[in-house]
Amino acid sequence: MPIARILFTLPLPEPFDYTVPEGMVLEPGSYVAAPVGPYDRLGMVVEVLPDQIGMNRKLKAVSAVYDVPPMSAPMREFLSWTAKYTVSHPGMVLGMALRAREALLPSPVELRYRLAGPPAGRLTPARAKVLEQAAALGLASSSELAAAAGVSSSVVKGLVALGALEEIEEAVDLPFPAPDPELPGAVLTGEQAVAAVELREGLRSGGFSSFLLDGVTGSGKTEVYFEAIAEVLRADEDAQILVLLPEIALTQAILARFEHRFGAAPAPWHSGLNPKERRRTMREVLHGRARIVIGARSALFLPFRKLKLIIVDEEHDPSFKQEDGVSYHARDLAVMRAKLEEGAVILASATPALETVVNAEAGRYIRLRLAARPGTARLPQIELVDLRTAPPDKGKWLSPILERAMAERLAAGEQSLLFLNRRGYAPLVICKACGERLKSPGTENWLTEHRYSGRLVCHLTGYSIPKPALCPSCGAADSLIGVGPGVERVAEEVRVLLPNARIEIFSSDTAQGGEATRGIVERMAASEIDVLIGTQIVAKGHNFPNLTLVGVVDADSGLKGGDLRAGERTYQLLSQVAGRAGRAERPGRAYVQTYAPDNPAMQALAADDRDGYLAIEREVRSELGLPPFGRLAALILSAPSADLVDSFALQLAQQAPNSEGIELFGPAPAPIAVLRGRHRRRFLVKSSRNVDLSAYMAAWSTRLKVPSQVRLSVDIDPYSFL
Ligand code: ADP
Repeated sequence: MPIARILFTLPLPEPFDYTVPEGMVLEPGSYVAAPVGPYDRLGMVVEVLPDQIGMNRKLKAVSAVYDVPPMSAPMREFLSWTAKYTVSHPGMVLGMALRAREALLPSPVELRYRLAGPPAGRLTPARAKVLEQAAALGLASSSELAAAAGVSSSVVKGLVALGALEEIEEAVDLPFPAPDPELPGAVLTGEQAVAAVELREGLRSGGFSSFLLDGVTGSGKTEVYFEAIAEVLRADEDAQILVLLPEIALTQAILARFEHRFGAAPAPWHSGLNPKERRRTMREVLHGRARIVIGARSALFLPFRKLKLIIVDEEHDPSFKQEDGVSYHARDLAVMRAKLEEGAVILASATPALETVVNAEAGRYIRLRLAARPGTARLPQIELVDLRTAPPDKGKWLSPILERAMAERLAAGEQSLLFLNRRGYAPLVICKACGERLKSPGTENWLTEHRYSGRLVCHLTGYSIPKPALCPSCGAADSLIGVGPGVERVAEEVRVLLPNARIEIFSSDTAQGGEATRGIVERMAASEIDVLIGTQIVAKGHNFPNLTLVGVVDADSGLKGGDLRAGERTYQLLSQVAGRAGRAERPGRAYVQTYAPDNPAMQALAADDRDGYLAIEREVRSELGLPPFGRLAALILSAPSADLVDSFALQLAQQAPNSEGIELFGPAPAPIAVLRGRHRRRFLVKSSRNVDLSAYMAAWSTRLKVPSQVRLSVDIDPYSFL
């Protein structure tokens, strides 16, 4: 009997062998169920070996094969490449590709009803009402009909018996409507048309191609990549397209734009989907029927049949980096995936990452530039407000110049946006009697005061308590006070300043889930809000035509900490936030409040000199051999006790392989030294570009058996240094 090597969606280092029962046809990529211990598990065939006569191993048999197309060869290659690169078990990476396993089964069916003919009997008022609703709804489930008519579902059944309604069995998960590339797009401006032609030519030549679409905020990058999508849809009726966006940019607005351009909304993939929506998208992707998918980073692991174009919009965005479990950067992996699929990749941004710019300059990406906003829209003027010389009044956070500008905007019927990347009311709570700073138990993290909910919350662990009446340390009453501003506190200040303004807060606390986010974005777009106060959630891709003023409350908050990209990120975030202003006829202006106006990131913002800033960053990183001029990897250990983690870290340090071009730092306490009761230590490894750092980390991390209470994780190209 032939033998199938099967990789399971489990943290196992390698595939297992099974016999293939008589009559079962398997090939590499087939999805199967096979016994592991007492249970059948989901797995994928990696290889099928011919009959092996005389083999003395006793193998179990494959239980079943799923009736779906096998995983494509480029996708399998992508998964094994990813496992190697990220130093992860291949089964874990396979698990990321099979998040919604019900997608391997056909859609469940349900009974639906529609009008059939004249009833063979008397019509009660209840029956008449149901028939009326059936005429209006067309095809509906019995509960929908009953609810619409305000009767019980037994009335529906009765009408079937009378021959007035007929029962039809229908799939619950419907296919996505097909996009139409022939619908007209926007009339492109000169520079947009040039970029679109270059993209189209690149795509027509076939094979792997890669582009950087480098255009200022609001320059029409979306309109331009729509042209590339249309080209791919037209050229090959089986080709599929993936558009990756930062999670919080996946709002109704972008879906509506796709629908407007292609006559059909794309298939969505993000953490807000319910299980039914997930299995629907994944099934349609797997069968090759979903032509356009729009999703957050994890959509890159969907098992497409024929992925010909990947667009990474806002490619600089830190949310493309995943740090839990298998850590990866979706932008970097997207380029590799496009290469393996022999497809194209477009990275789009107004503030591309230094890595991306360096790649473009080295000729690895074709760079397309959009320098202007279409029509009369202009980029906003950015002005620094030096808080050392123009501070806010005592107890306030907004400087007089920003206050005046907001009052003027309100009087003119225009909108303002205040940006502060801090949720809640105050980022720190102290006792004014004893000086105690309230922390999340077992950690060094401060608790944030949330006034709306009346709670103190740890934003790292989710720990939360009602605000205590007495200081937990000294017992003093009414002594706990919030220090520093969060968005709630700034809102309080604006309410006093502009009592007639309509004010809303936009943060992950006020916009939980797509519905609430959509509500705020729609109210803002419809000018039903005068002042919006938001965290980084406001920076992403929104178009608010009547927004003409942006105020950055604390531009310096992102510059603190040891993150090598702190300056770059601050520049990107603030220029994206400022870019929300003046996107239509009226010009926009941004005020950036800072105590560090001489910082190169602030100087570059004020001078609108992105490339100048990148040049400084490049010099610093090149001198220090930091990415993209060198490589970095982190190894993080954690254990319930400090002694245990320290002694293992020491042993591991002694086992580090000697290797040319490698520098090892640590072990040191990780910046978040205690998290959820676990003590954490980290090593940082730096190498030159030509070293295979993944192979080095794999060799090192498997030299010692890891004690059962210790957790070890590897992060290649770390972004957060927590
Ligand atoms: P970006 O993705 O670069 O931020 P968008 O594609 O979102 O820019 O474009 C910004 C706004 O300008 C959108 O409302 C878009 O519909 C509009 N726009 C862009 N290009 C054109 C064009 N050629 N004609 C008309 N409107 C356009």
